[in-house]
Amino acid sequence: MAGMQPVRGTHDLLPEDSVRHRHVEATAFAIANRYGYGEIVTPIFEFTEVFTRTLGDTSDIVTKEMYTFTDKGGESITLRPEGTAGVARAFISGGLAQHLPLKLFYRGPMFRYERPQKGRLRQFHQVGIEYLGSDSPLADVEVIATGYRFLEALGLADKITLELNSLGDAESRAAYREVLVRYLTGHLDRLSQDSKARLERNPMRVLDSKDDDDRAVIAQAPLLGDHLNEASRAFFAELQAGLTALGIPFAVSPRLVRGLDYYCHTAFEFTTSHLGSQGTVLAGGRYDGLIAEMGGPRTPGIGWAAGVERLSMLAGDKAPALARPIVVVPAGTYPVLEAFKLADALRQAGHSVDCPPTGSMKNRLKRADKLGAKLAVIIGDEEQALGEAMVKDLDSGHQERVPMADLPRRLAPRG
Ligand code: ATP
Ligand code: MG
Repeated sequence: MAGMQPVRGTHDLLPEDSVRHRHVEATAFAIANRYGYGEIVTPIFEFTEVFTRTLGDTSDIVTKEMYTFTDKGGESITLRPEGTAGVARAFISGGLAQHLPLKLFYRGPMFRYERPQKGRLRQFHQVGIEYLGSDSPLADVEVIATGYRFLEALGLADKITLELNSLGDAESRAAYREVLVRYLTGHLDRLSQDSKARLERNPMRVLDSKDDDDRAVIAQAPLLGDHLNEASRAFFAELQAGLTALGIPFAVSPRLVRGLDYYCHTAFEFTTSHLGSQGTVLAGGRYDGLIAEMGGPRTPGIGWAAGVERLSMLAGDKAPALARPIVVVPAGTYPVLEAFKLADALRQAGHSVDCPPTGSMKNRLKRADKLGAKLAVIIGDEEQALGEAMVKDLDSGHQERVPMADLPRRLAPRG
């Protein structure tokens, strides 16, 4: 029994962490909103099939990382490892095809049984968007722009790089697949056990491997980009022209892939060198075959997801600080309940106020210091007799008497 310990790979957000975390989420939503996204909230668990059908049974997530359990009704349930599958399921079960094009934003916890390390957790959080119903490369341009403007709004533009690649259409991938299988088969002895299995079931997946020996083989592998057909090349060119027109810098990264069959054309990642080996902060791609694969109407889609923990680490001090409170300090014979009434009135006027039920004046001022309060409102016997309060600026030490009735107005509004 692990006792009162957090489960490995989970963590608590204390108030100062939460401010950063919420700032990342709120910024993502504000920017997505400007691009026309509304928020969808799907359950954090789904039938296991929702994920096995969408992620494919050769993906790392499905083979190693899912939190799956049988519920009391005998159903196989999985805590969501990512957001797209749930959105696609909601699209199908909710009959949302009649509302296309659809632009959906989501946020919330995701669960993956991974080896925990800095920036890699078992419960982590993502924000993400899905743009359903357009097969134009300009939709890809807009989706990537949304991600870029989001990172820019977090103050991260100079810390990130956009890497971009094309996976082409089905015909291009089929042609490439043959070439790739021939190459990998020639280097079978150097591939990991996992990759040998992938080679049979989904060779493109091998390109995603993080195994060092695999990486060495992959580094010499033929490139998908050399096998794109005319239509795929045109799509990729239009995407790049669009990003250039919007002033979004990118680098084509010919080895960037997503190994699932229904991924096509665009794959992209925003990476940083400031987070050690967990450097991908936002990743996405086009998945035109996904919804049909799940049994829904054929619907093109493109989206991305970003890791909130990694982004709050990266954005660090750029998040707004907690509001600095005002403290109300009853002194002498001034009744605490009167101080409580005043504190409550100030809160109703929009201020953040601290007024503990007990404590000497000295202790109260110490606590005010600890809270980083900006003002103390002190009412002692003298002030009480005059119907006034002493307002002390805790930064400058300057103090002045203010009539009680004027207090809510006189204190600068919270901000
Ligand atoms: P990685 O290559 O780091 O394992 P991934 O390909 O599994 O990433 P995605 O499924 O594309 O990641 O998820 C999108 C983003 O979510 C990642 O870029 C990352 O910022 C974040 N993320 C993914 N897994 C974790 C995790 N276990 N802990 C924290 N953040 C994560
Ligand atoms: Mg992963």
